[in-house]
Amino acid sequence: MNEPQQAKRVLIKGGTLLDPKRRSAEQVDIVIENGRIATIGRIEEASFSGDVVDARGHVVCPGLLDLHVHLREPGQEDKETIATGCQAAMAGGFTAVCSMPNTDPPADNRSVIEFIRERAAGRLVTVYPIAAITKGRQGEEISEMADLVEAGAVAFSDDGSSVKNTAVLRRALEYSSMFDVPVIEHCEDPYLDEGGVMNEGFVATELGLPGMPRIAEEIIVQRDLSVLGYVGGRLHIAHVSTRGSVELIRRAKEKGLAVTAEVTPHHLALTDEEMRRFDSNFKMNPPLRTAEDVQALIEGLRDGTIDAIASDHAPHCVHEKDELELEYAPFGVIGLETTLGVVLRVLVQEHSFPLAEVLDKLSYQPARIIRKEETLTIREGAQANLTVFAPEERWRVDANRFFSKGRNTPFRDWELPGRVRAVFNNGLWWRREA
Ligand SMILES: [Zn+2]
Repeated sequence: MNEPQQAKRVLIKGGTLLDPKRRSAEQVDIVIENGRIATIGRIEEASFSGDVVDARGHVVCPGLLDLHVHLREPGQEDKETIATGCQAAMAGGFTAVCSMPNTDPPADNRSVIEFIRERAAGRLVTVYPIAAITKGRQGEEISEMADLVEAGAVAFSDDGSSVKNTAVLRRALEYSSMFDVPVIEHCEDPYLDEGGVMNEGFVATELGLPGMPRIAEEIIVQRDLSVLGYVGGRLHIAHVSTRGSVELIRRAKEKGLAVTAEVTPHHLALTDEEMRRFDSNFKMNPPLRTAEDVQALIEGLRDGTIDAIASDHAPHCVHEKDELELEYAPFGVIGLETTLGVVLRVLVQEHSFPLAEVLDKLSYQPARIIRKEETLTIREGAQANLTVFAPEERWRVDANRFFSKGRNTPFRDWELPGRVRAVFNNGLWWRREA
């Protein structure tokens, strides 16, 4: 792949600037000088010296931000590294990702957060580390939150598991609210899901596979919302997958609780019917649910119950995913390079969402949750943090061409709209070679 370059002098010619914040779309030229937006207006190409991106028919929008990414480094560099994960993000139109703390060692102390930030320094993609809520992600002893926030953690999560001990969750919400950072919960009762491979229901029964009931998620959503209502703080529910969870979050928001939520593209696009293929590239946690759940997730996005779309990018090695039996293969799928295309297809094309609304849920809304909205400002003088994509351009998903080390996509051979053509951030820019 070609590497990002210094954005010394670049003209984005004739693109449609779609800023979800202003709900406006206008055809403009944008000049970027030394990483900053110098001019938004009309520029004659003939009088311009520098690189030119022909953006006619393309959308120019704020750089996308992914709240939920497993970069695997430190500890599992055979699955992904900060370098390859950032390249995958860039190719998918993301200029920022939040890294989940279930690394080895886990991001439960200052030195791991500093290591991640050092490895990410100087890259086009900004990495915002999320720290573990509890030491070793064991759910018992709370991490040094003040120290971790000072080191650069933007949120806390024990992702992979819920916080086991409710008193610990309570304290985590109390402490984290002092720093205005959210607690991100992976909602799952491990006892109800033990041994499960897929959604518990009709298809699992037919296939004879052990199930993961929807209540395993909803019971923890309910518990967490109860604690939030009692002590305050900010709670973010990761990868919501069931109709019941959407309903619980909707009611909590109506009551004024400070809860936010995200959904993954695969939970919007796929159902547990896919498990009939016995392919572990459809095995993830939470599992694919039913068409009824998918409908509720889409309605939740539409009415604002679900704030953001996040990939839950979870790379695994080919030998783990393709060569192990379904019951032994690890949970998780990759998503950084397919998220934009999948949501354009499912939400914009099939469910008539306005494009600006979908881009909002991939940029400002996730940024708001970690208080990084200002990094997305599009105006003259601001740092250029932009994504340029061709909304009509169709491409076929070929896992062997991903920049991620992961090949475990559930969208193999899908034809997707929306090809990312260029991205700008941190004084750098990258353009996809034709
Ligand atoms: Zn999770």
